[in-house]
Amino acid sequence: MRYISTRGEAPALGFEDVLLTGLATDGGLYVPESLPHFSLEEIRSWRGLSYSELAFKVMHPFVDDAVPADDFRKMLDETYAVFAHKAVAPLVQLDTNEWVMELFRGPTLAFKDFALQLLGRLLDYVLEKRKQHVVIMGATSGDTGSAAIEGCRRCEHVDIFILHPHQRVSEVQRRQMTTVQGDNIHNIAVRGNFDDCQRMVKESFGNQSFLGGKTQLAAVNSINWARIMAQIVYYFHASLALGGPDRSMAFSVPTGNFGDIFAGYLAKKMGLPISQLVIATNRNDILHRFMSGNKYEQHQLEHTLSPSMDIMVSSNFERLLFDLHGRDGLAVKTLLENAAKGPVSIEDYRWKHARKLFDSDAVDDKTTCDTIREIYEQNEYLLDPHTAIGVRAARRCRRDHAVPMITLGTAHPAKFPDAVAESGLSVKPPLPAHMADLFEREERYTVLDNNIAGVQEFIAKHWKNA
Ligand SMILES: *Cc1c(COP(=O)(O)O)cnc(C)c1O
Repeated sequence: MRYISTRGEAPALGFEDVLLTGLATDGGLYVPESLPHFSLEEIRSWRGLSYSELAFKVMHPFVDDAVPADDFRKMLDETYAVFAHKAVAPLVQLDTNEWVMELFRGPTLAFKDFALQLLGRLLDYVLEKRKQHVVIMGATSGDTGSAAIEGCRRCEHVDIFILHPHQRVSEVQRRQMTTVQGDNIHNIAVRGNFDDCQRMVKESFGNQSFLGGKTQLAAVNSINWARIMAQIVYYFHASLALGGPDRSMAFSVPTGNFGDIFAGYLAKKMGLPISQLVIATNRNDILHRFMSGNKYEQHQLEHTLSPSMDIMVSSNFERLLFDLHGRDGLAVKTLLENAAKGPVSIEDYRWKHARKLFDSDAVDDKTTCDTIREIYEQNEYLLDPHTAIGVRAARRCRRDHAVPMITLGTAHPAKFPDAVAESGLSVKPPLPAHMADLFEREERYTVLDNNIAGVQEFIAKHWKNA
């Protein structure tokens, strides 16, 4: 399998190199040159497979000979065995033909574990083969950092440095990062805000000389292709559990960077009958505004009760724009260069095509809380604020009640107790048993000044073979 850049100018790469690369050299994102396609008969034959067996069927064509079949099977067994539920991604029924797929049974209680648990293992496998070492450097305002740290804690060939803004992440989020034991795990609390952290990471990728040429940086943010790939699997998993592929499904997806829902779009292109994909956003609604009025325009960032979806632009949307433009990299490059300067539109027929593929809705904080309360009153089931946005959008956009509507449950409610409290409910979502002692565990992190030279010096000094 070859991977090409959405901006058309970077060299095509194989899976191993795509795994180790973040952005393509032309500023684009890597996508497969062509997608595998599965017949209904083949998908039907996957009924009854375990999650990890199904993951093998769906992902092996992408990974190819980078990981031999037997090794890949073993890796997937290990990856999904760490989830605290035998079904890995269990479905919970809300109403007639309406479901939530719980994607929060992994170590850090959010769907990002599905991809990052695998990514850590894939990286280590490829680096072992190549006798190479990488330093992962990332900035986090919460969820991604902890999932990345959990995913890399057992990696022999990876050191991971995660920057978070000192005293500006919630205590649960900080503890999920800082209580993970491992010599290769380094938490840095920067005396600054999230943007300061992100800027330092970006600049460090641009000039890696501080590492002295002895190792290289790797990225685990949501533009990494392997993360998208791992998220395709659970669309097949849900469909097969509810009578697919002999019946089509609808999915509603709480959306920030457009990674998770893009995986659903790919599942459909690979042959899974999906009749509706709903983009559910919070007040940071650039995608909903584009889908409703063909105007792609950045607004000021708003802080909401669903912080993991607080974004100004959705980086993975570029991958969809590439397809909407007939995979013309130059057209995408021009469009996104213009979008950085002001509002842009695409040709009407292309936009109409996008509207056929997706529905969308934006949900504000008050409606998010109303939904949490309503579902609790109806079912005694607690939603986290991100999932609540998905459920609300699903109900508003639903077209055919004979088609099962599945909302992706992206986080466990215990991660976001404030939203639950604000919805007026007196229940407090307890942490799951495997995390119940989080507040007693020992923390390890280093506080550094908001100064790139100091941070780089720290990294250069503390990676494994420094
Ligand atoms: C990251 C995240 C999202 C957004 O997912 P994207 O792939 O960026 O669209 C939604 N909900 C939760 C809980 C998340 O952590």
